[in-house]
Amino acid sequence: MRKKESIDSILDLRLRRTLQCPMSRIKVLPIELRNKIAAGEVIERPASVVKELIENSIDAGSTDISTEILRGGKGLIRVVDNGEGMDREDALLCIEPHATSKLLHEDDLFNIRTMGFRGEALPSIASVSRMRLVTGLRDALSGLSVEIEGGELKEVKDAPSMGTTLEIRDLFFNTPARKKFLKSDSTELFHIIDAVTKEALSHWEIGFRLFTGKQETMTLPRASGPRERILQTYGAEFLEGISEVNAETRGMKMTAFVTKGENFRATRSHQFIFLNRRPVKDQTVSHAVYSAYEGLLPQGKHPLFFLYIEIDPKTVDFNVHPTKREVRFEHKEEIHRFIAAGLRESLRTERDLRHAPFAEAPDWGKTSGPSGLPDFASGFPGPFSYAASPPSGGGVSENVELRYRPSVPFIYLGDTYVAMAGRGGLTLLDHHAAHERVLYERFVQGVDLASHQLLFPVQLKLSHSEYRMLIENKDLLGGMGIEIDDFGHDTLIVRTVPEALKEADLRGILSDVAASLTEGTRPEKPLREAVAARIACHASVRGKEILSEEGLQRLLSDLEKTEHPDQCPHGRPTKVLFSLDDLKKMFKRK
Ligand code: ADP
Ligand code: MG
Repeated sequence: MRKKESIDSILDLRLRRTLQCPMSRIKVLPIELRNKIAAGEVIERPASVVKELIENSIDAGSTDISTEILRGGKGLIRVVDNGEGMDREDALLCIEPHATSKLLHEDDLFNIRTMGFRGEALPSIASVSRMRLVTGLRDALSGLSVEIEGGELKEVKDAPSMGTTLEIRDLFFNTPARKKFLKSDSTELFHIIDAVTKEALSHWEIGFRLFTGKQETMTLPRASGPRERILQTYGAEFLEGISEVNAETRGMKMTAFVTKGENFRATRSHQFIFLNRRPVKDQTVSHAVYSAYEGLLPQGKHPLFFLYIEIDPKTVDFNVHPTKREVRFEHKEEIHRFIAAGLRESLRTERDLRHAPFAEAPDWGKTSGPSGLPDFASGFPGPFSYAASPPSGGGVSENVELRYRPSVPFIYLGDTYVAMAGRGGLTLLDHHAAHERVLYERFVQGVDLASHQLLFPVQLKLSHSEYRMLIENKDLLGGMGIEIDDFGHDTLIVRTVPEALKEADLRGILSDVAASLTEGTRPEKPLREAVAARIACHASVRGKEILSEEGLQRLLSDLEKTEHPDQCPHGRPTKVLFSLDDLKKMFKRK
């Protein structure tokens, strides 16, 4: 039935082509050109080929999938699986456009349970590469090898095999415009590693291996669940920084691994959404996670999350984009509510546990008088005092509204703003942004970093792509006072860090740096600057740290010495001045 339908449709297309009137302006495009157009949407770079081939192997019920890459996938991509394979007829049909074994009726389109369904990937890839497909049914002794070049069938021969191997050579050899946009081999390889990682995270029961050349760069044996797969991918220490949340309601289920405590990042790396096992991007879902962290997330920081969501496939449309990475939900608000509420509840419980009444009360709690207000009479020890509101709700208050020392002309507003009299008006300083600017310039120039040799070098297991990126850029980091060594097995040793990073979260920093290295940079922003900005953001005074008067004065004078004292490296203002004239205008005196 399926084959008959596919063959019919191919014949139908062929027939329509012959019916074309030579005089008409409108032409039905030849199949080869249509495939190339489809390839334009589906296959952006070698990583897209890897994704499509792995997803086909998953659909074929494979339990082991191995991928081999040469020259960032530009030379060769080979995906070998132990799935159900194809018989002779299917092996020839699968490269025809819109030929799929996964959809039969229109209804199926709204009940998708496979990774593929559009029947587009193989013909698209075949049209822009030299492809060899070797496949055979699991228990048969026969098999077929099919060679296609730029969409044209070159050779078909018997080749006994089990499972399927697809070899893609010289991607985009016949579409030079596309080829021109490919990045360096290592950048393309990182995209491939990311693609394999995403598939592996969502299909833990399958074993994945990745070879670059003959080197085995990633080995993920079959795992028992998402937790074990995350462990295999990022290491035990990473897992300690995230907590597991489970929630279920009618028609929806979620297992999530999300940031625990303050384990935030400066980028959105490590944010994954798997919807019915498909890696997707979705604003509604991401927004729901952020909203669960409302009030906990410092400005400019991002939570880590791995969300595994199962929903009734009839309530979601996966056919929104050719790459199937975007979705449309029938009940968007419900999904949002379900995720946000599930996470919020568990985060609150976790926070309450950590912040059990006064368990971790900061110093100001101890030095304040019985009213909770600072006890000036007893001689406040620091140069700075706080008029803190008493802890409320049994835990430590997160809303220290106003902290001030009456004898000096500045006050803290919230956690990061300082209001100062001077310069002919009122200056509001964002001390976090100011500190970031100072450190950023030091990192860019590699000066005044006061390197600090760690007494106990820190060992960090990272994801494979992070590890490779950092090792490749060891010298760049060295110039910024971060000395790392290769420890093998995706592990780095950090030996020296600049003074400003002594207490910072090294894993978070290096992970962010790797992300910015992977993103590559635009010509207007050299790599060094991008990396310096990331590190500075981590090293700068934490949101809740209050500087002493002396510290503040030092910061102001350091800030004035920088090239752009008015802006942090991300372009946000470090300070805003309300002149007396501005104030007069505000009070309608002018
Ligand atoms: P889709 O995955 O959307 O069906 P593809 O072009 O990716 O479209 O693949 C076409 C068909 O080829 C699939 O429906 C499947 O029947 C067959 N196929 C592709 N790859 C494999 C594989 N690794 N093992 C078995 N069958 C495969
Ligand atoms: Mg497919």
